[in-house]
Amino acid sequence: MTNSVKIGVVGVGHLGNHHAFHLSKIKEANLVGVFDVDQAKAVIVAKELKTNAFESIEDLISNVDALSIVTPTPTHVDVAKMCITNKRHVFIEKPIATTTREADLILSLAKKHKTIVQVGHIERFNPALLALSGLDITPKYIEVHRMAPFMSRGTDVPVVLDLMIHDIDLVLSFISSPVEDIYANGVSIMTNSIDIANARIKFQNGSIANITSSRVAKDRVRKIKIFQQDLYVTIDFLAGLSEVYKAMDAHQNDPQAIMSAPLIGKDGKNRQIFYEKPTVTKKDALKMELKNFVQSILGNETPLVDGHAGRQALDVAIKIQDKILEGHK
Ligand code: NAD
Repeated sequence: MTNSVKIGVVGVGHLGNHHAFHLSKIKEANLVGVFDVDQAKAVIVAKELKTNAFESIEDLISNVDALSIVTPTPTHVDVAKMCITNKRHVFIEKPIATTTREADLILSLAKKHKTIVQVGHIERFNPALLALSGLDITPKYIEVHRMAPFMSRGTDVPVVLDLMIHDIDLVLSFISSPVEDIYANGVSIMTNSIDIANARIKFQNGSIANITSSRVAKDRVRKIKIFQQDLYVTIDFLAGLSEVYKAMDAHQNDPQAIMSAPLIGKDGKNRQIFYEKPTVTKKDALKMELKNFVQSILGNETPLVDGHAGRQALDVAIKIQDKILEGHK
């Protein structure tokens, strides 16, 4: 195995442009070129990054080991199929596809052709979350809010598949128990599909996640609150800030505690609340996930979000979307 991966980007619109930029800076990656059905876009990006603008996807595929697929979600399955059947590793932007049938096809082809599939659930690489890696997260209840001002980009799929799927993936990464039940509703405000959605997911182990997503908000919000035995964690993915509140056995009036009076715990013992703000090391999440992909191809790492995780998030997202539509009948 060489120590560099020849890579190409398919789709250099809003996000693909950033993929190409980061790949051009990753030491172990050799950005061979880009392809976009809008050839003018490919030419601009290629010129900026001193790489090649390919005139056909077939040509790009035949010159690389791996591809980053950053085309609109409805096109992921066809582009991925073409790359994987040519035995190329793929990084697919989220959501992996628009249906679980498409996701299953991608996964079965990848298995057959022994290629890596990684999915762009970027929040898993958010430094505010990574700062909590030493913490044992076993939530009983999760409250999530993700809001964004309206933009026409991304409206080719409902808000559940565009925004909520980020949080579905996070919740599934925190709670390792099968989904028992889903209650969901939503409304359409600016598009013909659902723009604001709320889902309450109940897991077999009793844990609950309540997720609210909107793409018609004034301000951007991306926050998670996690409640578990003797622990409360908040993560602000936008501000890059995590805060931890722990209830611990303490002596009377411990100066480190944020509340002077001890509380009586469930076990009848004295508890005090302690606050911690983990150090967040600022890093670009997109660059880190692409590095993870490149290192996985080189055999040094495994994808943090593989195709199966991408499929699992999509499956729950579609069940939520179906529940919402059922409520509209
Ligand atoms: P975009 O519309 O800005 O760009 C898509 C580009 O793909 C366009 O330049 C278009 O010409 C090109 N294209 C369309 N069909 C193609 C094909 N068959 N082959 C080659 N090029 C093709 O869209 P975007 O906002 O960059 O989103 C692209 C993908 O990235 C979507 O799946 C979206 O969900 C995802 N996305 C993820 C995040 C994230 O936070 N991870 C953020 C934004 C978008």
